[in-house]
Amino acid sequence: MNTDDRERSPVGRIAPSPTGRLHLGHARSFLLAWWSVRQRGGRMRLRIEDLDAERAQAEHIDGCRRDLEWLGLDWDGEVIVQSKGLEEINARVDDLLRRGLVYPCVCSRADIRAAQSAPQGRVTSPYPGTCRDKFTSVEEAERKTGRDAGLRFRVPSGSVEVVDRLAPRLEVDLQSEVGDFLVARRNGLPAYQIAVVVDDARQGITEVLRGDDLLASTPAQKVLQEALGYAHPEWVHVPLVTDRTGRRLAKRADDLSLAELRAGGTDPRAIVAWTARGAGMPTGERASAAQLVGELDLARLPRDPVTLDEASLDALREARL
Ligand SMILES: [Zn+2]
Repeated sequence: MNTDDRERSPVGRIAPSPTGRLHLGHARSFLLAWWSVRQRGGRMRLRIEDLDAERAQAEHIDGCRRDLEWLGLDWDGEVIVQSKGLEEINARVDDLLRRGLVYPCVCSRADIRAAQSAPQGRVTSPYPGTCRDKFTSVEEAERKTGRDAGLRFRVPSGSVEVVDRLAPRLEVDLQSEVGDFLVARRNGLPAYQIAVVVDDARQGITEVLRGDDLLASTPAQKVLQEALGYAHPEWVHVPLVTDRTGRRLAKRADDLSLAELRAGGTDPRAIVAWTARGAGMPTGERASAAQLVGELDLARLPRDPVTLDEASLDALREARL
């Protein structure tokens, strides 16, 4: 491989969140992400996004890795477990604080709900800006209120445009639709958006192919990348898998979980074939993920959600090695 090829070859990532078992929808996005990168001679990174510490469990981290290996996916280099490498993320948060791009916020969920008079139990966007320009430092915010402070990013005004290789062009006015969002939570842990952005940069990610439920997160990630001086990756948001009633598969739908299918003796190549068929790829007879490298054409990928009907699910359950 000469230097030019290396510069052009993409770096992708698989970033499961171990808050529950992975299901067929995850398998599909991960396979597509892997094919897209591997067939251009690119590298694949693995990152475990376990910052949602209340729900992430060690057993699920192992489970994720086993599921991916079972599907025939591999990755290059060190695996990042987000909760085990917070220094870099925290350093970037401090950087934003020093530059005045984030400010302390002592609002609880209940405070925000009350300010919005939103229906009980739900915090909706946008954050009403209660703490913007209220305190001069984190110490002052905490001393004056007797509460822990989180940090919110000052969202720039104007619209943010996201160009995606598959999804329609997205334009969002973050200020009116989302408001200043948290980059550090009141418990001190970094929030989701900045963790993704810093770790994508740290792993040198140039292509983010993921489910289109995350499209809505992309404008916030884009403005953070700009604030931190990072290049934007290429975004490819793929339609989700839904059940026959049109609902997206839930992480807790255990009968659809990869662990359950694996334990039941399903041949993983049947999942590969189901994904390939749904992506308009030739499936071959019991091809492995590796054998289909070169066959993915994103232009042929359907733009609508993929329905997993009972017949397909039964067929997957019954496909034996
Ligand atoms: Zn606040």
